[in-house]
Amino acid sequence: MLACLGVPVSIGRRYLGYNALKDFFPTMEIRPNVACVNPACVKLQAQVQARKSTPEALAAARAKEEEAARLAAEAVVHETNEWGIEVVSVRSLRRGT
Ligand SMILES: [Zn+2]
Repeated sequence: MLACLGVPVSIGRRYLGYNALKDFFPTMEIRPNVACVNPACVKLQAQVQARKSTPEALAAARAKEEEAARLAAEAVVHETNEWGIEVVSVRSLRRGT
């Protein structure tokens, strides 16, 4: 979906309190329009992109992914779980995954 917000925003967070209805509110990511006619918007987009491309930002993103993978690998699985109960982090709910 293309919009002119200058920064990527996840509106999925808005439905945090309605997870039971998640199927009815598919998560969408709103991204800036790369072909935007507003020079200020294009400038902001470039700034955001530059900020995301710094070695620090890339390392942070990698660390976040590794941490998520580590947590997934560590997940406790009980021998018997008749009701299929899962413990998930609030963060993963906020991401809408
Ligand atoms: Zn724009």
